Amino acid sequence: MNYEHVREVDPAVADALEGEVQRQNDTLAMIASENHVSEAVLEAQGSALTNKYAEGYPGERYYAGCEYADEVEELAIERAKELWGAEHVNVQPHSGTQANQGVYYAMLEPGDKILSLDLNHGGHLSHGHPANFTGQLYEVEQYEVDAETGYIDYDDLRDHAEAFEPDIIVSGYSAYPREVDFEAIQAAADAVDAYHLADIAHITGLVAAGVHANPVGTADFVTGSTHKTIRAGRGGIIMCDEAYADDIDPAVFPGGQGGPLMHNIAGKAVGFKEALEPQFEAYAEQTIENAKALGDQLQERGFSLVSGGTDNHLVLVDLRESHPDTTGKDAEEALEDVGVVLNANTVPGETRSPFNPSGIRAGTPALTTRGFDEGACREVADIIADVIDDYDDADVKAEAAERVQNLTDAHPLYE
Ligand SMILES: *Cc1c(COP(=O)(O)O)cnc(C)c1O
Repeated sequence: MNYEHVREVDPAVADALEGEVQRQNDTLAMIASENHVSEAVLEAQGSALTNKYAEGYPGERYYAGCEYADEVEELAIERAKELWGAEHVNVQPHSGTQANQGVYYAMLEPGDKILSLDLNHGGHLSHGHPANFTGQLYEVEQYEVDAETGYIDYDDLRDHAEAFEPDIIVSGYSAYPREVDFEAIQAAADAVDAYHLADIAHITGLVAAGVHANPVGTADFVTGSTHKTIRAGRGGIIMCDEAYADDIDPAVFPGGQGGPLMHNIAGKAVGFKEALEPQFEAYAEQTIENAKALGDQLQERGFSLVSGGTDNHLVLVDLRESHPDTTGKDAEEALEDVGVVLNANTVPGETRSPFNPSGIRAGTPALTTRGFDEGACREVADIIADVIDDYDDADVKAEAAERVQNLTDAHPLYE
């Protein structure tokens, strides 16, 4: 990839941009929320639509000259409706967090109650964490996964809802390796007359491909990001029934945002078109098969996985049993040294701190985009295991780095 115009103006930034392409090519992106978009999506995101103000919605803008902005946003909306089966779609949220913000702002008053999953158990900052505005503006209680099984306990969630009487229940998670039963959560919400927001940020692509249950049509609101398991570039999306359209749209603009990022909406339109192609379903299936292979091999090597495995694109490793003296950060740093980029993560029943937790989270969406199959993912699991077993041994790390290089050479990116 060549940044000739940037290089002319700003060699420092050109160096960093080229360095980043090289870094992505030379390392294994296993942060479960990351992926590699196509060059078509990159071009759309880098287009002249970045120059255009298009406050408002297609056909009702506050500015002149919006005919192409309208066309692009309408395409993104139509394709999203087809992908997820939604009646109403808003593609303007700048990110998944802004999508959630839009729903809260539309449907809640300050002081209203949110029931959501604890961050240590796989929840997200935007679901009521004290460091996020949601934790400050609303009254928040949190449910947990079952300490023994690592699965969400839907009966417990329902009891919790009956005791707390929330205004909204949030489902959808950042580090939950199992299929979510959105209908059970909807039943808990119905029982206490609460809204249900299903935040499918991580699994947007799996849901679109039909390889994970779809909350659209069940949950009142569905939010997502467009850059994780779907490769439509950085951004957010809100889906709901037509009946809520007049609540949601004004809460996004002008409620919480100004002009939409039309170049990103163009990226969404192109990425959604790619996801409507038949190959996308095969991609999503392979992503899950790869996560299962990765998890299996890690278990073979003595690691324990939260919930004992995975149904989706990620595994969550709890290091406490197999490697009691190794923290998630130790593992993250040692693996980064050999070109495996993943993140330390809290685990249910966390006994360390969020900054140096007891687990690591690893995902397969980006590796699958590069063409990795189950065999390659088992090899990656072996590399991870070798490094964590012996992270002070320079020879072990040198050999691991070489094996990573063989894998990245065999699956080049952005040639
Ligand atoms: C990633 C994620 C989001 C969105 O994050 P952004 O960085 O704002 O796009 C929202 N909810 C969950 C559960 C997530 O994992």
